[in-house]
Amino acid sequence: MRAVTVTPGVPGSLRLLDDYPEPATEEGAILVEAVAVGVCGTDIEIIDGQYGEAPPDADRLVLGHESLGRVLEDPTGTLQTGDLVAGIVRHPDPLPCPNCAVDEWDMCRNGLFTEHGIKGLPGFARERWRLQPRFAVGLDPELGEVGVLLEPTSVVVKAWDHIDRIGRRAEWQPRTALITGAGPIGLLAALLASQRGLSVHVLDLASDGPKPALAGALGATYHSGPVEELDFEPDVIVECTGAPVVVLEAMCKVAPTGIVCLAGVSSGGRIIDFDAGALNRTLVLENNVVFGSVNANRRHWEAAAEALARADRDWLGALITRRVPLSEYASAYSPGPQDIKVVIDFSA
Ligand SMILES: [Zn+2]
Repeated sequence: MRAVTVTPGVPGSLRLLDDYPEPATEEGAILVEAVAVGVCGTDIEIIDGQYGEAPPDADRLVLGHESLGRVLEDPTGTLQTGDLVAGIVRHPDPLPCPNCAVDEWDMCRNGLFTEHGIKGLPGFARERWRLQPRFAVGLDPELGEVGVLLEPTSVVVKAWDHIDRIGRRAEWQPRTALITGAGPIGLLAALLASQRGLSVHVLDLASDGPKPALAGALGATYHSGPVEELDFEPDVIVECTGAPVVVLEAMCKVAPTGIVCLAGVSSGGRIIDFDAGALNRTLVLENNVVFGSVNANRRHWEAAAEALARADRDWLGALITRRVPLSEYASAYSPGPQDIKVVIDFSA
């Protein structure tokens, strides 16, 4: 069968194989045919050779951690033939650490976890794959192809879950949320903020293209200037750019007792002249919290499936700005300036 693969660590090794083996039954009892795979920055970093790890017995890594498939057979009876399903990306470390031991693998402490399409497990950019029931998440059949947004949605559900948990340290009645970055993660974070009834603000460099309208359709106010020039202090900031200046401005801008969730990964290596003492003074005197958030556990995936089912289908569909047939897979990994989410369509 066909599979999109790389040799990890070797730039330019992206290949579509047509003789990749069928998934082994050891991968799981649920056999799935691929419908679509979403592409994100992590895939592009893996293709650039910066990241990625093949399974222990393989030279090549199948890409794809944002999955959508249709069940071909499930002898366990967990799902029915024809059901839409996505595969949970991370598997717990084998030790396991205290968090993986209670299936909170998103909080793994020793880094020995594995991840489909990223670290030690084949990804979902292949025509068929298998899942164990505990890593299979069924989707509302009405969702159709926008179900491919489940993985990025699970990441922002986890971010909001932890914002809520941190908020409960005090009397917590947030009113305003600022999302920095209007890519797929930022817009999905804004969707969840709107589902919570918050007054939502979205900030991004782009002043044209689809982002302002997508934010507006959620009822959010769109800003394209610097964070420090905003005329209000957000109770919650979900930082999705990873841009160092935006990260620092967000930490300085949040309201007293506010929470800043850092969900964007910086590349590092950029030095900024910054008054760290003034920031520390503000964080202490205002009881502010800054924390990082990545990945998601099963609870978050299930809540993400519910959040997508509640969302406007057309709005979700507009996040997918390009659908690329498998035969043209390489173009999916070169996003254009107007792209939000690009998917490889396995049904085309
Ligand atoms: Zn662990």
